[in-house]
Order: sequence, then structure tokens, then C-alpha cells
Amino acid sequence: MQETDIQFLENSFKKYYFDHFNKIKVPERTSEREFGYQKFNSGMTRHITISNDKELHLMLMNNIPSDVYCSNGYYTFPNLPMNEKDWKEADLIFDIDAKDLNLSCRNNHTITICTNCKKISNSLSQCTECNSSKLEKKSLPCKNCINASKKEVEKLIDVLTNDLAISQENIQVYFSGNEGFHVYAYDLIFQKLGPRERSDLTDYILFKGIIPETFGIRKFKSDKKSFPNFNEKGWRGRFSTYIFGSKSKRPKILTEIFANGYSFFQKTLDDAAENIGVKIDPNVTVDIHRIFRLPGSINSKSG
Ligand SMILES: [Zn+2]
Ligand SMILES: [Zn+2]
Repeated sequence: MQETDIQFLENSFKKYYFDHFNKIKVPERTSEREFGYQKFNSGMTRHITISNDKELHLMLMNNIPSDVYCSNGYYTFPNLPMNEKDWKEADLIFDIDAKDLNLSCRNNHTITICTNCKKISNSLSQCTECNSSKLEKKSLPCKNCINASKKEVEKLIDVLTNDLAISQENIQVYFSGNEGFHVYAYDLIFQKLGPRERSDLTDYILFKGIIPETFGIRKFKSDKKSFPNFNEKGWRGRFSTYIFGSKSKRPKILTEIFANGYSFFQKTLDDAAENIGVKIDPNVTVDIHRIFRLPGSINSKSG
């Protein structure tokens, strides 16, 4: 970017920050968190502490960052290097992004920039100018992308409230700044979970890693009585709705499932994960040291 462009952007952002201080607020337990920011055309500054809205606003006016971030983690010493921070706990955050949803509309609104010759084109595999395959993808979400992301958010909230008993008022949804949403679940029990437990939790939400035995299908001596039914809670009920559709179809489909056997059913489970699992990005949820875009702040990429 040109120096004059940066000057222009910084002035616009400064005005935005000044006009919208009421929208840019520090999160709770401010002084236990790590803050970070990025300026136009420069790298990330991290390991900053801020204790209230006033200090945040001062930081914004002094540095005019293009992006502001805040940790999900709470630390004893948030301004020290990562291994000296003394991690206490972290908010549970889920990332849902349109680019992960395998939507057919994506190709219609994705362009690529060749990193070699800078040619911009619609070709997603190869540069039309120099044939280089090093392409940077840029995309703006369409209505379909936003609606599909919203549907995943609804599925996620259903699992969080019904299966994990997190109350609705402790769940907040924010635009992620990319092409989807960040869902924050504030819950004392889940805040304390480490990466391994968070990984188990993401598997549960993705409906991933389920083995046929869970539903009574074994290599020998399967058990029809263990198979899920409609009125059951959680994934057993959701899986029933997915596999049977309606009550009247259940007996026939159940007979087929048991006749097809173990490995066929494993395939059915994998397909189910793809269709009814909630498409969260597991890497985001297991990361207890990540910094996230501060809700209410602007995002340099959205233009
Ligand atoms: Zn090229
Ligand atoms: Zn789209």
C-alpha cells in the first residue's frame, strides 16, 4: 500500500473509532486478558494489557490499528511471553466459516491473485498468465454463504443448550470478520477445560469418531434394542431423524441397516457426520491461547 493510502485509511479509522467508542468495549475480566493489534502494512503487536474502556480507546487513538484482538484466555500475567503468562482458564469459542461448508456458490465469488505475477483471475487452480499454481484466494460471502453459516450457528446453539446445558443467555454470536461467525459460550465449567478436553468436545459437536458399537451394531451379535429412537435426546435423537426421516419408515430401514452389517454402517455414520454434524473449525476451539477479533472493532479486510 502507498503511504498516502495508509494515511487516508488511518484517518478514516481514527474517525470511526472516535465516533463509535460506545460500540467498542473491553470484555469482562479485562486486566486478565492479552490484547493485540495490527497496524496497516505492519505486523502484529501482542502481549498488551488493558484494564478498562478508557485505556482501550486511548490505545486505539494512539496507534490507529487496522485490527484489534483480545485473548479468550485469562492469565495472571497477560503481558509476559506466552510460557510465563500463567494460564488460568479460557472462554469457549467456536468458529463457523462459510469457506468450510463446501458450498457450490463459492466458485462464483472467489477470485485468485497469482503470487508470482499478480494476475487476478477466476481460475482457482492455475494462473491464466504464467501457469503458476501459487494462487491466493479472495472471496466475499454471498447471501447463500451467510444463510448456510447461520444454519450451522443454530445447530451449534441447539447442541450447546440441549446437550451441554449451557444457558442461552450465556451464548453470544459475533461476526467473525472473515466469512462467518464466532460463537462465545460463557460457562464456568467449560472455561476450565484444557486443549485435550476441548478436542473431545469438538469431536462431539462435529458428530465425529462415532463407532457402530455405540448404536448397538457389532461385528457379531448386533443388538437392535440399543439402536437410537426419535424421542431420544442429543445425537441419538438427531441421528434417528436423519436416518429414518419418519416413524413409519423406521422398521424397514432398521432391518436394512442390520442386514448391511458393520462396515456399511460405519460408512453411514461418516456420512451422517458430514450431513448433520455441526461444521465448526476444531483448531479454533482447542486453542486456549488464541487472540480473537474484538467484537465491535472494525476489520481491515471487510473494506
Ligand atoms: Zn501468474
Ligand atoms: Zn456464497
